Amino acid sequence: MMTIKENFEIIKSQLPENVRLVAVSKFHPVSSIEILYQQNQRVFGESKVQELVSKYEILPKDIEWHFIGHLQSNKIKYIAPFISLIHGVDSFKLLSDINKSGEKIDRVINCLLQIHIAQEETKFGFSFDELDDLLQKYDLKKSLTHVRICGLMGMASYTEDVNQVRKEFKLLADYYKKVKKTFFLKDAYFCELSMGMSGDYQIAIEEGSTLVRIGTSIFGQRVY
Ligand SMILES: *Cc1c(COP(=O)(O)O)cnc(C)c1O
Repeated sequence: MMTIKENFEIIKSQLPENVRLVAVSKFHPVSSIEILYQQNQRVFGESKVQELVSKYEILPKDIEWHFIGHLQSNKIKYIAPFISLIHGVDSFKLLSDINKSGEKIDRVINCLLQIHIAQEETKFGFSFDELDDLLQKYDLKKSLTHVRICGLMGMASYTEDVNQVRKEFKLLADYYKKVKKTFFLKDAYFCELSMGMSGDYQIAIEEGSTLVRIGTSIFGQRVY
């Protein structure tokens, strides 16, 4: 059996300098997070608001917490004061609700827009067309003063077919470049492409990911 520290060291050694690791600690105990914290890992990802808040309260305050789950509007207020990045924003409604929460506490909240690239129906996200429409319709920077769009996020199909996975990441990466050029050209903050999990992060990195979200390959299987 490999330890968490050993798994972490292997993953870190595979990451190019420009790719950051989000250690996905959902369903894992605080003690596991502390092991990585001692190795200087500061970015952790959680997918449940309640779990995130209770870990935030216990753990050191220099941790950068990323929310990677499906966020419900009525729960934004619990994480708004401290969240570093919300990965999976997939509607204008959610974006404007996040903006309202940010306004109330005078904080600009970093967000990624989630694109649906997988074949499965179940995964959340905008289609390419939907996001095009949204970006053309609204000047997001002017209308949402307390949200900062930092880039895009996507999840590939859950399949053994690496060609399919690569194809999906490539589509997303091309789209990311197009959106950056068309809508965020002078915006230095729009610089993140969050793609890649335990099963597919190597491919995601080859296709241009800047943020990989890895849980199982570091912490082991989650017990739900
Ligand atoms: C759980 C989760 C991950 C991590 O998945 P692993 O396969 O354990 O690495 C990454 N991204 C999202 C959105 C998740 O919900």
